[in-house]
Amino acid sequence: MGLVMIKKMLPLVAVSATLSVAAVSGYVKLPDGTPVVGASILQVSTQKSSVTDATGFFDFAETTAHALVKAALKALVPTAAFDMKGRRVGANTRNLAMGVYAVRFGVGEPEPFSGRRPLAKALSVPDTLKVSYEKQAVGNVAFWDDENKVDDIVISRKVVSGSTGGATTVLLSSSEGDTEELTATVSGASYSAASKWTMYKAFRTWEITAKSGTQSMTKKGVKDAVQSLTIDLSGSSSDEPLHEKNFEYVASLDFDASNYSTVQVDLVASEMAKALGSNDFSNVRYYAVNADGTLDSVPTAEGNGHWFDASGNVTSYNGGNPMVFSEMDLSAMTTNVGQFPGKLTVGETYTLRQALRSGNNMVYITIRLQITGNVASSSSVAPTSSSTVPTSSYTLQTMYDTQPENIWKFVDWVWQNRQSSGKLDDIVRSRNLIFHQIIDGKGELNYCVRWESANSLNKKDRQKVEPMLNRMINAWVKELVGYEGWPYDTVKVHIVGWAADNASKFPDAGSDEKVYTGYTIENAPTCPTDCSRPLHYYEKKNDQYGSCTMGTRFDMSIWVTDGFNGGAGGDWGQREGYSSFYSTLDTKFPHIAGHEVGHGFGLDDFYETYQIPNSNYDPLPCSNYDACSKSGYDGQWGIVPPMVMRAGASTVITATDAWMLRRTWTGIKNQFGY
Ligand SMILES: [Zn+2]
Repeated sequence: MGLVMIKKMLPLVAVSATLSVAAVSGYVKLPDGTPVVGASILQVSTQKSSVTDATGFFDFAETTAHALVKAALKALVPTAAFDMKGRRVGANTRNLAMGVYAVRFGVGEPEPFSGRRPLAKALSVPDTLKVSYEKQAVGNVAFWDDENKVDDIVISRKVVSGSTGGATTVLLSSSEGDTEELTATVSGASYSAASKWTMYKAFRTWEITAKSGTQSMTKKGVKDAVQSLTIDLSGSSSDEPLHEKNFEYVASLDFDASNYSTVQVDLVASEMAKALGSNDFSNVRYYAVNADGTLDSVPTAEGNGHWFDASGNVTSYNGGNPMVFSEMDLSAMTTNVGQFPGKLTVGETYTLRQALRSGNNMVYITIRLQITGNVASSSSVAPTSSSTVPTSSYTLQTMYDTQPENIWKFVDWVWQNRQSSGKLDDIVRSRNLIFHQIIDGKGELNYCVRWESANSLNKKDRQKVEPMLNRMINAWVKELVGYEGWPYDTVKVHIVGWAADNASKFPDAGSDEKVYTGYTIENAPTCPTDCSRPLHYYEKKNDQYGSCTMGTRFDMSIWVTDGFNGGAGGDWGQREGYSSFYSTLDTKFPHIAGHEVGHGFGLDDFYETYQIPNSNYDPLPCSNYDACSKSGYDGQWGIVPPMVMRAGASTVITATDAWMLRRTWTGIKNQFGY
């Protein structure tokens, strides 16, 4: 996944010669840890196969052939497209074969237009291992080139059984996003589905849906370790997967300008005991619940407590835009609900949602906190305006004061050795980072949807795209709120155009949806290029697009391509495959496109050992990719914290991602007078 903004005439072949050869290895085991002997593993990119030995071990020595990478590069280069000024327009990864690539584009030659410089990034595509056992396929395992080893592949002989009146399908969806359909064998009024079930990561849970005719049943949160399940489709089940109950409480609290004042809410222990099925609360599990219903088990306030923002989403005290918190005392079944001093609005009601679980009993607790009191009318400014400058502020110093050493040392190293002026990626010279787009657009971003797919996108799904883009952009933006003068607490993302080869791809388009079919870049549909900010920002201000074909600029594109693996991103937007795009329309943070947004903000990729610190955090002895690849600098993956920007390492923005973003703002904010 990479930021691909390159110019022609780059020494691509020389770049490919620096790629390391991977030796992918791992173990295949049963859930109890017993090695699986004789499982077959096929590596898709090379079509090489391996068989596990007596310890369950498999090994693909020197598996990633340079030839494959070179073939991929050849496939890339001839279809490259550049605009009239020699700028490469968008990503072009057409014709990518399945395989492992870490294709790096060298950059940095003097450009004819001042202030612009493409960034060096890498593009990587996950490879796949196909696992089979006793001649049956048991599933696929995706891995990244960087990993060089695969998590244990665990095969279970999971059995799903139950009663049914007809043909039954059983679908498994894991918390990691993969799905499997079990084959059910129906015999009379019962069925059993005994397909083998592949597991390759610890701590994954499953949602299992069984359907027979009009009956269906879902089990949520099923652990990998479960060996068999019974699902009763007769409709009168005593085996409900999760008993869910909702409780709502109303509380009020006086506005407080200077204290973290609280009010205690009694959750009523006897009611909780009934709903949780036990008087003993010592093993109850605690969660916060985001506005979209997703659970968060890592507290951001004291004890069993979380901070929430104005939208009811979990946030942290010093990272997001914290407004209210709730800290539970599970032994007393009370919670202290409190406020961030001086930030709340009198008369406003804030929603906090938390959940408790004991066995299969789940309790959702909703607290509506009304803020009371009198404030002078002159200070009753609505806090939700997109251009409100937050009153709380913190600085880079906060990172050194609050973060573990491995995080601040890493963030410092990446800035000093890669992002800063004259260094490996020198993002400081770019004048079209998403920071620039947001500030030039006064807190608003316009998107074009580039639809390069044989599928159509119906109206219901189209209506999900703008909210998804808003979630994705604001997941990053919220990490800047309150930090060193960053001026926007939310960014409004608009879709201003829909581009396809044929208007039928967007059925029932209303007058509010502008569909464009007559424009292409790199053989893929685009919105009219005279309205493209990535093509014109160096000659036009944001308010000078009124006479372009669309009557408004578009800042970025979300580019959706059938069969495209991984992602690509840059100042022009984000590109991903149709299946990845479609499957993330409802997700909180679409992490593949979200990683690419990180590149748009000037954040780096992490694929090579000279892109990461060594154990002494020594300075890089080089400032361009060619020199660094030959420098022998020996970065240590073991010290790299998890982050979205290390592709495949995290599906959510981590503290390290957030601090890299803030460090970047600190480094470029003087361009905007901050
Ligand atoms: Zn990337």
